[in-house]
Amino acid sequence: MRIRTRTAEEALATYQALRALHPDAHCELDHATPFQLLCATVMSAQTTDVAVNKATPALFAKFPDAASLAVADPATEVEPLISTIGMFRQKAKNIVGLAKILVDKHGGEVPKTLAALVELPGVGRKTANVVLGVCFGTPEGVVVDTHVQRISQRLGFTKNDDPSTIEQDLSKLFARDHWDLLSHTLIFHGRRVCDAQKPKCETCSVAIHCPVAGEDAATVGRKPPSSRTKRATTAGSVEKTDAKKAGRPASKVAKKNASTTAKKPAPQATKTPKRSP
Ligand code: SF4
Repeated sequence: MRIRTRTAEEALATYQALRALHPDAHCELDHATPFQLLCATVMSAQTTDVAVNKATPALFAKFPDAASLAVADPATEVEPLISTIGMFRQKAKNIVGLAKILVDKHGGEVPKTLAALVELPGVGRKTANVVLGVCFGTPEGVVVDTHVQRISQRLGFTKNDDPSTIEQDLSKLFARDHWDLLSHTLIFHGRRVCDAQKPKCETCSVAIHCPVAGEDAATVGRKPPSSRTKRATTAGSVEKTDAKKAGRPASKVAKKNASTTAKKPAPQATKTPKRSP
């Protein structure tokens, strides 16, 4: 299906419709401080936010800040608290390692630049921009996960498959002020309405802006089953950056996210869907 790339004005109108549908869109990783969000985001690589949110209360109760976590033993003190999430051994090492660096180099605080953040173990560009956007309002790029990738393709925000190129496309299409909420809104939409395999076009109030609304929507933003595994690896290259630092291949990211997406309920839509011209 050939999809015309949206103009900036069209993209903004679509984004405003998405915001109206998901006014409560936000980062779904529970946290009380930038340090806690940094740890939670590192732990979320190839793991659902729900799983991370189940593990972090006990972790943050015992180690609420960098100073306390920096002196913890990863194997005996941290692993038991996060053993329910994937790659917990490597992630335990990463969060203790990053806590030590925060204490040694940053006064125990989370640095506010992407360059400093990506120096931390387990932290890639995506994780860094989540923290910069949510905690400081200064993302240095658009977070592109599997939902952002798929929805951006369906809505005509990009014609590209590669997350880093999609990030560039979104950065050009939307004003910097929108970058942080844009990601969270697209992720909300992907989890609740625009499912990878079964998008709810018939009740989607954004359909009037959507060039693929209808029966064929599911064919956009994903490949046929025979090539999906290969594509999942390619499409997850942003996750791969973080996953690589977490010590595990990224090819399971899309499969995990698709599983999570299928379990999320859809919010009420408000308009009768129409295909955009
Ligand atoms: S109309 Fe369908 S494909 Fe378009 S954004 Fe809504 S759910 Fe996704």
